[in-house]
Amino acid sequence: MSETKISTDLSTLHTFRLPAKAQDIIFLDSQEQVNDIPSDAYILGGGSNTIFLTDFKKPIVCVRVKGIKVRQAKEHWSVKVGAGEDWHNLVLFLNKKGIHGLENLALIPGTVGAAPVQNIGAYGREVSDFIDYVQVWDRQERKLVNVSTVDCQFGYRDSIFKQYPMRWVILEVHFLIPKLWQPELSYGELKALNQPVSATDILNKVIAIRTAKLPDPKVIPNAGSFFKNPVISRSKYSELIERFPTMPYFELATGEIKLAAGWLIDHLNLKGFKIGGAAVHMQQALVLINSGGATGADVVKLARHILSVVYENYGIELEAEVRLLDEKGLVSL
Ligand SMILES: Cc1cc2nc3c(=O)[nH]c(=O)nc-3n(C[C@H](O)[C@H](O)[C@H](O)COP(=O)(O)OP(=O)(O)OC[C@H]3O[C@@H](n4cnc5c(N)ncnc54)[C@H](O)[C@@H]3O)c2cc1C
Repeated sequence: MSETKISTDLSTLHTFRLPAKAQDIIFLDSQEQVNDIPSDAYILGGGSNTIFLTDFKKPIVCVRVKGIKVRQAKEHWSVKVGAGEDWHNLVLFLNKKGIHGLENLALIPGTVGAAPVQNIGAYGREVSDFIDYVQVWDRQERKLVNVSTVDCQFGYRDSIFKQYPMRWVILEVHFLIPKLWQPELSYGELKALNQPVSATDILNKVIAIRTAKLPDPKVIPNAGSFFKNPVISRSKYSELIERFPTMPYFELATGEIKLAAGWLIDHLNLKGFKIGGAAVHMQQALVLINSGGATGADVVKLARHILSVVYENYGIELEAEVRLLDEKGLVSL
């Protein structure tokens, strides 16, 4: 385990790139080092879903465990991946090997280890569709444990790892990918692909859509969708659709309705709205950006402003999808 004791600039370790510093950064390169993980450390992958609002006083453990191993059985592929591998590189690697299924999740930034934490999803797929189990270091019990998909308690942008962020450190993700590939084309722009469609067609289309729609964090610092899409009751939906007939919605299997948080924000003409250096992205209202020189206070003020106008206009409480940290740890808005 390599450790940095000098004051380190965190702006290079999270994609929103606020000017925060940390005292104690530890790089976890292999499973053998798990005993050294401090119980109060924040676990960091690629920092694409994390915003350091201030300097950080607790230790940070950057998980960099590498390695991809593929085995095949009659009907499926088993793929064991180190938590520190880059997610998009894994998607490309598997596609090249003819192992298909993850292509809808292409170009999501971050590490493989963070993917189960918020059960990353896009274009009709979620990573939980392909997870067999996750190997973790249990910081409470101080032992290695394999957590089954059921025990991961996956939900929409949710899992047990997100609910108890100080307990487990994900070291490996074990995927089970059926050899019988089924394309997932239910999402609007993918429907238009010419048949017969290949996994590589989907991969290329997803990359093209995302490149056109979302700001590249390397160019415009951001953390992707800032808020989760709200899930509301049918009666609340009936009230809203009468007032906003063009409002997009998705019916869930539970009978509840999921709304597009980006549409709710955009409909209030907030694209481009700015507080200090924090702004609502001009093309994608769900993404807040660091337009230059943003501070943590700017981000919090902007996010709270959005929360309050969305509540005033629709009676809906948005919830942050990003992880916000002040000097002591995770905070809510
Ligand atoms: C431009 C852009 C587009 C995005 N698009 C999508 C999208 O389409 N769908 C989607 O779901 N997300 C999306 N995201 C969000 C983000 O990419 C994902 O949440 C990703 O999984 C975060 O990975 P990371 O390694 O950067 O996580 P980090 O920000 O480093 O960490 C995220 C959370 O996971 C925890 N964590 C990280 N690694 C581990 C580990 N090894 N063990 C235990 N806990 C850990 C952290 O403590 C933190 O709570 C997008 C982000 C950006 C910037």
